[in-house]
Amino acid sequence: MKALEEKILKEGIVKEGNVLKVDSFLNHQIDVSFLEKMGEEFKELFKDKKITKILTIEASGIGVAVMASRHFGYVPVVFAKKAKTSNISDELYHTRIDSYTHQKTNDVVVSKQYLNQDDHVLIIDDFLANGCAIFGLIDLVQQAGGVVEGVGIVIEKGYQEGGHKIREAGYHLESLAIIESMNDQTSEITFRK
Ligand code: 5GP
Repeated sequence: MKALEEKILKEGIVKEGNVLKVDSFLNHQIDVSFLEKMGEEFKELFKDKKITKILTIEASGIGVAVMASRHFGYVPVVFAKKAKTSNISDELYHTRIDSYTHQKTNDVVVSKQYLNQDDHVLIIDDFLANGCAIFGLIDLVQQAGGVVEGVGIVIEKGYQEGGHKIREAGYHLESLAIIESMNDQTSEITFRK
């Protein structure tokens, strides 16, 4: 998505530790009309799929997931929650996800009420790096007996292994922008063609 690449170049800040900050439109302040366009683009990319639910993880995936839902007939958006270990009960699907940005492992849960075997799920998240978050969300859908119809990512860091692993595992993955390289010294960002 050309407009997204331009926005990243204009507003993105490359931080140490291989982290791109896009707080001005996605991770802190939300540019609603821009997210609206991203939602529309996800519909275009997955237009052949019959989606009954969108699954994301709190917090930054929620805004995009909601905007995408508007273009998939307002299907429910479920966001996996980061739980305290003591909160995990039989009513929850549970997985563990290593956090890329916070260098810790989160216990992540979804209530069994909100995901089930009839669901055809589009997974959406803001960033894809090593793939831990997405594989955790896939695990939750599988526990529920549902079908992962696709994975939609706003910004994929293409030089990290997540994208390759997810595509190799056979999932339909679409990213609105794929970063080919990112330099925290010069702030230079290049995109995959
Ligand atoms: P992964 O699980 O694929 O290694 O990392 C993806 C998750 O880590 C995303 O949910 C996102 O919250 C966070 N993340 C990974 N890389 C970046 C980054 O460069 N910038 C931001 N803002 N978040 C990132």
